Amino acid sequence: MSKVVVIGAGISGLSAGIYAVRAGFDVTILEQHNIPGGLSTSWSRKGYYFEGGMHWLTGSSPKMPLNKVWREVGALQDNNPIELRDPLYNIIDENGKVLSLYRFLPQMEKALIEYAPEDKHMIKKMCRAVKDFTNFHMPVFDTRGCKCRNPVPVNLVELMKMLPAVLRVPYLTNTSYMEYIAKFKNKNLRHLLGSVIGYRYNALSFIYTLGSFASGDCGYPEGGSIRMANNMLETYKALGGKIEFRTKVENVRVEDYMVKGVVTNKGDFDADAVIVTQDARAAVDNLFDTMIDEPWVNTMRHEAVTEQNIFIGMGVKADLSRLPYCCVFPLEKPFEYAGCKWNELRIYNYSKYKEHAPEGCTSLTCLLIGESYYFWKAAKNDGTYKDKKKELGDLFIKELSKFIPEVGSDLEVIDVATPCTYERYTGSYEGSWMSVWEKGGKQYNYPQTLDSIWGVYFAGQRIQMPGGLPIAVYTGRQAVQFLCRDTGVEFV
Ligand SMILES: Cc1cc2nc3c(=O)[nH]c(=O)nc-3n(C[C@H](O)[C@H](O)[C@H](O)COP(=O)(O)OP(=O)(O)OC[C@H]3O[C@@H](n4cnc5c(N)ncnc54)[C@H](O)[C@@H]3O)c2cc1C
Repeated sequence: MSKVVVIGAGISGLSAGIYAVRAGFDVTILEQHNIPGGLSTSWSRKGYYFEGGMHWLTGSSPKMPLNKVWREVGALQDNNPIELRDPLYNIIDENGKVLSLYRFLPQMEKALIEYAPEDKHMIKKMCRAVKDFTNFHMPVFDTRGCKCRNPVPVNLVELMKMLPAVLRVPYLTNTSYMEYIAKFKNKNLRHLLGSVIGYRYNALSFIYTLGSFASGDCGYPEGGSIRMANNMLETYKALGGKIEFRTKVENVRVEDYMVKGVVTNKGDFDADAVIVTQDARAAVDNLFDTMIDEPWVNTMRHEAVTEQNIFIGMGVKADLSRLPYCCVFPLEKPFEYAGCKWNELRIYNYSKYKEHAPEGCTSLTCLLIGESYYFWKAAKNDGTYKDKKKELGDLFIKELSKFIPEVGSDLEVIDVATPCTYERYTGSYEGSWMSVWEKGGKQYNYPQTLDSIWGVYFAGQRIQMPGGLPIAVYTGRQAVQFLCRDTGVEFV
C-alpha cells in the first residue's frame, strides 16, 4: 500500500485524506495547528464564541451536485442541519426603516422596489440576471484517465440550463462589482447591495452569489466551521486515516525528481506521494528546495490577487436580539484604517445562537475586507503591531457604538485578527482565504500536479478562482483522482 502524506488539515486536506484512505492508501495528515479546519475556524474568548470562518456553504442544498461531495466526506450530517438564513442583509436607515435583502427572488424584488421605486428598472434587470444564475451551479467532474468505481455522470440537461447565465458572463466579468452597484440611484440600496462580497470583485461574482442564494443553496450548517471540520476529521479517522497535530512540514523531500517524504519539526515522514494543501501560492515557494519553474506556477505567482480581511470579534454584555443576524450600517464618511476604506460596517449578530455568549450577552463579529497585509506586516517589523491593533479596535468601537450604543457601554471582549494572524495560524499567502476575481480578469484554474516532480499534488482554495470552501473540498477530491490515475488505483 502506497504511503501518502497530506500537508494540512483544513477542508481540502481533510477531503483529500478521506478520499485517499477510501481508495486504499496509507494516509497521514500532518497539521501544524492543534485543531482541524484551517481558515474555516471559530474560537472562544472569555466566555464568548466567535465564528471566524464560514458564513455560507455552497453545495449545502441536496439539489446541488456538490452536496454529494460534502456528504461523502461526512461534512454534513444529522448534527449540523442546514439553516437558510433569510433575510441575508439588513439596513436600518436613518428613519428607522428596515431595508432587507431577501434570498428568494420575488420577495427580494418586491422589498427593493418598495424601498427604492426610483431604481425599479435596474432592480428588475438585476433580478432577471440573478434568476438566470439560479441554474448556474458548480459542476462536479471526474478527472480524465482516473478509473472511478461510481463515475459522476455528465448531466447535459443541467449544463444546458446554465446557458442563459453563460451568455451574461462576458458583460458581468468586464464590469466591476462597484460599477454595477453604482447604477442604483438610492444610496441605502447601494450600501445594501455593496455588502454582499468584497469590493474588488467583478459583477459576475456578485450576481452568481445572489443566484446561489436564490436557488436555495448557500445555507449555514448548524455549529458552523468547527463542527463541520470535526465531522470530517471523525469521518477520516473512522476510515483508518492517521493525523499528527502540531506537526509543521518544513520541506518536501525530493530525490531524482520523485517525492520521498517530508521533513517536519517532529522528524521525517516517508511518503510515495504528498498532497500539499497549504495555500499553493505560499507552498510552491516555501516547501521545496529547488525553485519550481513551471508555467502554471509562474502564472499563479504573478496573477494571484488575494482576498484578505481584518476580523473583529466583540463580546457585549447586553441582549442584542432586537437586531437582525446581519446588519449593514451605512457610513456618512468612510471608515479608514490600514490603507483601506469601508463605506459601511457589516455586523454579524449571533444573539440567537445561545452557545455563542453567556446568558443575556451577545457575540458580534465584523469582517473588514480589504488588502491590509503589508500594513500589518510593516507594523510587526517596526514593533507597533499590538498598538495598531488596539488603535483600530478603539476607532472601530467608537464608530460602531453610534449604531449600537451597547457596544460602547457594555463591551466585555474585543478580539482583532489581522491577515498576519491568518498567516501565522494557517500559512496562507498574505493571510488570505480566497482569490479576488477582478473586472476583466481571467478565471484561473490551475493544474494540481507538477511536470518536474513525480508524486506531488496540490489542493485548496488557491487552485481554482475564486476559491472558498467548495473549491477546497472539490480540489481535495480531485487531487486524489490525479493520484489514483497516476498509480492505477481505483477511485472509490
Ligand atoms: C473570515 C472568513 C470568512 C469566510 N467565509 C467563507 C464562507 O462563508 N464561505 C466559503 O465558502 N468560504 C469562506 N471562507 C474561505 C474558506 O474558509 C477558505 O477558503 C477555506 O477554508 C480554505 O481551505 P483550504 O483547505 O484550502 O486551506 P486552509 O484552510 O488554509 O488549510 C490549510 C491547512 O494547512 C495547514 N498548514 C499550512 N502549512 C502547513 C505546513 N507547512 N505544515 C503543516 N500544516 C500546514 C494550515 O494550518 C491549515 O490547517 C472564509 C474565510 C475566512 C477567513
